[in-house]
Amino acid sequence: MYSKKLKEAPVGYTFDDFLILPGASEVEPKDVSTKSMVSRNFELNIPLISSAMDTVTESDMAITLAQEGGMGVIHRNMTIKEQVKQVKQVKKSGDLAIHDVITINPESSLKEAQSIMDQEMVSGMPVVEDEVVIGIISRRDIKPIINSDSHKKVREIMTSDVVTVDESITPGEALDIAYENKVERLPVVREGKIMGIVTIKDILERKKHPNACRDKKGRFIVAAATGPFDLDRAIALDKSGVDIIAIDTAHGHNMNIVKYVKTMKKNIEADLIVGNIATREAAEDLLSQEVDGLKVGIGPGSMCTTRIISGIGVPQLTAVSEVAEVASEYGVPVIADGGIRYSGDIAKAIAVGADVIMMGNLLAGTYEAPGEVVVMNGRKYKQYRGMGSLGAMTGGTGAGTDRYFQEVKGPMKHSKLVPEGVEGVVPYRGSVSEMVFQLVGGLKASMGYCGAQDIKSMQKKAKLVRITSSGIKESHPHDLLITNESPNYPTLE
Ligand code: 5GP
Repeated sequence: MYSKKLKEAPVGYTFDDFLILPGASEVEPKDVSTKSMVSRNFELNIPLISSAMDTVTESDMAITLAQEGGMGVIHRNMTIKEQVKQVKQVKKSGDLAIHDVITINPESSLKEAQSIMDQEMVSGMPVVEDEVVIGIISRRDIKPIINSDSHKKVREIMTSDVVTVDESITPGEALDIAYENKVERLPVVREGKIMGIVTIKDILERKKHPNACRDKKGRFIVAAATGPFDLDRAIALDKSGVDIIAIDTAHGHNMNIVKYVKTMKKNIEADLIVGNIATREAAEDLLSQEVDGLKVGIGPGSMCTTRIISGIGVPQLTAVSEVAEVASEYGVPVIADGGIRYSGDIAKAIAVGADVIMMGNLLAGTYEAPGEVVVMNGRKYKQYRGMGSLGAMTGGTGAGTDRYFQEVKGPMKHSKLVPEGVEGVVPYRGSVSEMVFQLVGGLKASMGYCGAQDIKSMQKKAKLVRITSSGIKESHPHDLLITNESPNYPTLE
């Protein structure tokens, strides 16, 4: 029986075991579409999302990735209140209108108006009486008379002929109205009552990111992680306007978690992604609970020690292909999570059925990841640690402990934890935009080689060739000393 078990064991493959075959192509990389579904109801413009890790994704990362067309998953190693705040920051920053708008009463003095503008760092404010906009006042109106008439009332000098707009305004329409009327800000009203304000500066800023991923209201798409049984967190995140909730656990095929999915789903409006898993059976069980997305990866992560300490895991390309085969029958997207080192790995994951790729390591080194840049031996680095590392499990709210099913009773003691990850540093890699440009550029090149116009046809068309260790050796630069590091070929020292 034991020898049969060994003999019948399937082979598991990962990124370095295959290359994608070049095929006849009429597709130029610059013309391909990288749009892909991340969950049942949300489409991204680029198939990249960031890991829910405390050295990878907080609001800055989520905002920048959404601007680029991807999405961030806010980590959960913080209180519910903090996580909700982070989600709101992302939503607020991608909003066309500023909703917590600073207003002034018409009876206030010019001196008061100026001090509010200084304090709040705004250059103008709607004048509001009983929530109704009756005028607008700016620094420019106040400046000529502030020294002589600082006690004058706002009502006396405000512009009462205010141009307001409805909530449904588009950026283009708002810009046209602002230019036509030669105004810099447009109060947004509902039945005369102030709801927000749109400024030309914000509209122009928004135009810089035409590929951004936005919800129906035009705000950035964002996801957040929750523990498998943390209903309070899931409900709070849902209320904060998060688009997707990702149940974050090391073993998504734990049947208690699978059974709890329905309870989670019943209580939230957001899409629900569940992971991580690595087998067909896990996919079947979760799909029968009507999850909106599956996340795949047991042990491929760069800082992960699960496979080493437990002997458990499935090489990532095999895991993704197995899950994707089942999920595609249900029309549910698959996220390949972990192990990505180069843009070619992203292409390979898609070639075996992934819809979207999640990355920790490659993004942890960017400016937008939490944490400071450290300099060691003259080179810049940023901290990166596994959520199952000792540091993450004993830091923050200790979210890593339940991710790895560890119960800590009494004071948190290092000696009572069994880590499944390590802590370290990764090279500093500049801004997320530069990183994304290279990663998406590499993926587009791959799609061009395969003749794939979009992600779905890449999944269908890409054929693989199995390679040997000599093949992978030949694939990397060889027989030269690299003198100029390439932005898409990081080398660790
Ligand atoms: P990377 O992009 O660094 O190769 O992998 C990131 C992924 O590793 C994360 O998205 C998450 O799924 C997984 N991960 C994060 N922390 C840990 C950990 O401590 N242990 C394990 N086994 N996986 C981790």
